Amino acid sequence: MHEDDLPLRYEKCLICPRRCGVDRANGRTGFCGMGAVPAVNLAMLHHGEEPVISGTQGSGAVFFEGCSLKCSFCQNYDIARGPTGRGRLCSAEDLSSLFLDLQAQGAHNINLVTGGHFIPTIAAALIFARGKGLIIPAVWNSGGYESVESLKMLDGLIDIYMPDMKFFSPRLSADLAAAPDYFDVCSEAIDEMYRQTGPAVITEDGLMKRGMIVRHLMLPGQLFDTKKILDHLCSRYGNNIYISLMNQYTPFEYKYPSMKLPPALKRKLPQSHYEAAADYLASLGQFNAFVQEDASGDELLPDFK
Ligand code: SF4
Repeated sequence: MHEDDLPLRYEKCLICPRRCGVDRANGRTGFCGMGAVPAVNLAMLHHGEEPVISGTQGSGAVFFEGCSLKCSFCQNYDIARGPTGRGRLCSAEDLSSLFLDLQAQGAHNINLVTGGHFIPTIAAALIFARGKGLIIPAVWNSGGYESVESLKMLDGLIDIYMPDMKFFSPRLSADLAAAPDYFDVCSEAIDEMYRQTGPAVITEDGLMKRGMIVRHLMLPGQLFDTKKILDHLCSRYGNNIYISLMNQYTPFEYKYPSMKLPPALKRKLPQSHYEAAADYLASLGQFNAFVQEDASGDELLPDFK
């Protein structure tokens, strides 16, 4: 993909399942809130990911601004809403330099966080970076709401997919992310991701080199929804993938006053529900799993600009 061709991909934007059809190349924005040039809020060595991703030296995380999902409880609320004005605007060439810089700092991988609305540019950046000496794996870290057609642009460029699977119930995903089709879209996206990577590969150094980790952040009062998601993942992929069951849901209204949480989400996840879900996961025979010892709230969150 040539950098000169990139604006064409944004002219009538159908990149994600929202299919807004707006001309991002000429200043219009759609649901994700972003123009055609990726804004990187933060690039850092991240030590808070799963151990097979963060390792000892950290994962080279690149946080993009904007999001095509915008969950009402978003744990990255301050950069997901749209442009912050503090992000660094990056061409594909700039992004490739950023990746190489993180590799030079010792990152185990390049961890692309919520880049779904910039897929064409990120794909081009990965091609440039591989040509310039990027040898560490590329990780796609997303909310799981992506179109198969766009994911195909990443085929052969991403080594590890790390999507969320957030909701099972259409009512829940409609209420919390304006996406009643979330589960169907996410299931198809994860199928495509698995087609691209195949079963998980962990090398002797304890790091993932290839494969998929599906994350599920448990929400208060939604244990049934969690179990339906675990049923789906275990029956479809079993131990060919890793499942990361996350308990750090935090109602961040105190931190972001403009965040409007529904009443049911203004509390923390009961530890007993988390333990029940972890037991359920084990009862399904899933040993390739990450579970957490305690809820960490915002301690796991990077300090965004
Ligand atoms: S990437 Fe943004 S503008 Fe394009 S379809 Fe998705 S939400 Fe709409």
